[in-house]
Amino acid sequence: MGSWRYHIDLHVHTRRYSACAETLDPGQLPLIMARRGLHGVVLTEHDQLWPAAEIAALNRSLAGRRIYRGVEVSSRHGHFLVIGLDHMDGIRKGMAIEELADRVRAAGAAMVWAHPLNNYGSTSHCLTLETMPPGIHAVETAGGRTREEAAPQALAFARRMGYTPVAGSDAHVIDQVGSAYTRFARLPKDEKALAAAIMAGRCRTIDG
Ligand SMILES: [Zn+2]
Ligand SMILES: [Zn+2]
Repeated sequence: MGSWRYHIDLHVHTRRYSACAETLDPGQLPLIMARRGLHGVVLTEHDQLWPAAEIAALNRSLAGRRIYRGVEVSSRHGHFLVIGLDHMDGIRKGMAIEELADRVRAAGAAMVWAHPLNNYGSTSHCLTLETMPPGIHAVETAGGRTREEAAPQALAFARRMGYTPVAGSDAHVIDQVGSAYTRFARLPKDEKALAAAIMAGRCRTIDG
């Protein structure tokens, strides 16, 4: 049993690639991470993956902490965070969850159902927790847009279904970064290692 001492916010937007996060400058991240004791942040822009070179540039100013790239895919059936992709080939906004799950599986990436109790306009065919399709590794059970009163319900469901509960802030402004996070026993060296930890359930929320 690890001590789960590495805190990673799995769900953060920046203005670089998410228009709706217009005030969150990625250059502010190293300072806020240090202030909040956050070891890692995953940049999950809407339907867009950061170029690897730009992520590498951001990481040059970090010591003992890491910024990873992921993506939040606005599927027809809800929003899903995908971590461990090298490219977005075949992945696009509005695609069906089953097709997305196939792509993610082929890439060996991890898929997290974001804010499962709170869907948006771009999600034309909302799924309920009870109709969650196969291929999902983890569920956001706390933080961001999972309302506090709904968190116990989401957590209980994830446990019953055997899905790993995770948390992320869904930050769109700098003050929200780190307001929710997932705990890991060690700091993953890259996105593939982070995805592997999530897929294996080697992580914890603050609830356990
Ligand atoms: Zn979302
Ligand atoms: Zn989001």
